[in-house]
Formats: sequence, structure tokens, C-alpha cells
Amino acid sequence: MVRDQLEARGVRDRATLAAMSLVPREAFVPEGRAGVAYADGPLSIGHGQTISQPYMVARMTECLALSELGWPWTEAPPALLDVGTGSGYQAAVLAQCGARVTSIERDPELAERARERLAAQGYAVKVVVGDGSLGYPPDAPYAGIVVAAGAPRVPEPLVEQLADGGRQVVPDGGGRSQRLNIIRRVGSERETRTADACVFVPLVGQHGHHE
Ligand code: SAH
Repeated sequence: MVRDQLEARGVRDRATLAAMSLVPREAFVPEGRAGVAYADGPLSIGHGQTISQPYMVARMTECLALSELGWPWTEAPPALLDVGTGSGYQAAVLAQCGARVTSIERDPELAERARERLAAQGYAVKVVVGDGSLGYPPDAPYAGIVVAAGAPRVPEPLVEQLADGGRQVVPDGGGRSQRLNIIRRVGSERETRTADACVFVPLVGQHGHHE
């Protein structure tokens, strides 16, 4: 997976490649699907939701530029926020990078299952149930925020919860023509770059799509 799906498509970030070669993806797919855990696409995890394609997880992790933030950490690791826990796989990859990870999921059952899976693999991720379009103020500011669901536009609370110098990756555009946005906060300014086209399930919430 790392060689054929990630390196072959240009993922170069060392933190991302190292983490994704270590996280057992089969532990985050539904029972009976271990045989296709490393397939080159998203998989259904029930409740109309998916575990993201490995390449998409890699691109989003790479966009956080953890090396610029000091990976591999010699000082206290930074706080990261994962919006849309789903299977917990993206959260596991961020935790494997050595960061302090908070992950927020609106579906209580998915959150509970992800919490169990993460704990079983020894990842100390804090999984909370709530509307991630509002971010999660108690653990802010975050050096990085990853949003795995598409919003009509970038939720403002998430930008406000970014630390100075921090980055967030968030798909927007809605429908079938979403793009990954990479937003970097520098003081009170923000720089936005658009990257890959992508297709994510909708971000449903106050600063997302309506139910
Ligand atoms: N990161 C996941 C992919 C999850 S798919 C993984 O690695 O497997 C997107 C998830 O976002 C779904 O589980 C969906 O329930 C959740 N979601 C949608 N809107 C949300 C919101 N406002 N807050 C938190 N989670 C949300």
C-alpha cells in the first residue's frame, strides 16, 4: 500500500509514510473485510459512512506538514483535531505520528466503535461525540485539523481554533466537485491553497450541511 498507492502517487512526507506503514488498517475495517483492508479505495463501515481511501488519508496527513512543526518531536508533541472519526483510522495515523489527538464524531455508535478499536491498538486518542463543524474548543488551539467530510464552505470555528502557524485540511465545494483546501493560519491572517479533487461524505452540522 505505501509503495504502490502512496509513494507511487507522490506522497513524500516522512511522518506520513512512516505512520501509515505501521498502523494496521485491517483493525479499522468492518469484521470480515480484512482481506480488502489495503485495497485502493474507501470502504463502507455502515451507517452510510466510509473509511477513507488510504491515499486520501495520506494526502491529508501530509498537508499538515508535521515535519515543519517539529516531527519527530523533541519537545512536547502538538495537539491535532480529527473531525469525522468514522472508523478511527485517520485518528490512528495521526496518533502514530506521535501527536496528541482529539477526534470528534457526530454518530455515537461509530464513535464508540472507533474508541474501542483505537484502545485495542494502544492509541491514546480522545474520541468525543459532537458536531465537529464547531470544532472542539476544550483542547484548542490545534497545530493541525483534518476534516474528513465535505462542508459547503470552510467552517469558521475550525479556522479560529487553529494555532498560529497551524494548518487545516478540509474539503469543500459540496456535491461531487469537492476540493481539498489547505488553510494555514499566520497571526490573524490565513493563507488558503487548494489541492486535490476529492469526494467525501457530507459534514452535517451547524457550519456544515443541514440534516
Ligand atoms: N476519518 C474517517 C473517515 C470518516 S467518514 C476514517 O478514517 O475512517 C466521515 C465521518 O464524518 C462520518 O463518520 C460521519 O458520521 C462524520 N461526520 C459528518 N458530519 C460530522 C460533524 N458535523 N461532526 C462530526 N462528525 C461528522
